Amino acid sequence: MPVCPNCGKKVEEWATFCPYCGSKLLVDKDKLKSEIDRLKSKEKLGITLMILCDLTALPFIIMGQDYIFFVTIMIATGFSAISLHYNRMRAKLEEIYKKSK
Ligand SMILES: [Zn+2]
Repeated sequence: MPVCPNCGKKVEEWATFCPYCGSKLLVDKDKLKSEIDRLKSKEKLGITLMILCDLTALPFIIMGQDYIFFVTIMIATGFSAISLHYNRMRAKLEEIYKKSK
């Protein structure tokens, strides 16, 4: 966790202001950019896995294997939830990135 250079208290990662003393904090833009890229690739991986699970699930419904179909769809839903989570985190960081320009 980063530390405020003014008051020395621990602040949240990517905070632009210290919540304790109110001083402006410098954001490491290169580090922030690479974090955004990292989240973007995780998001893409999640979507890819979701599509793969959905495609895997399809033949099972045709074969009448409802249980396997259901489980595979549940896993796909899990991957889409993970992607959405990364998407939200990335949107938050991109907002900080824009503000720190
Ligand atoms: Zn402070």
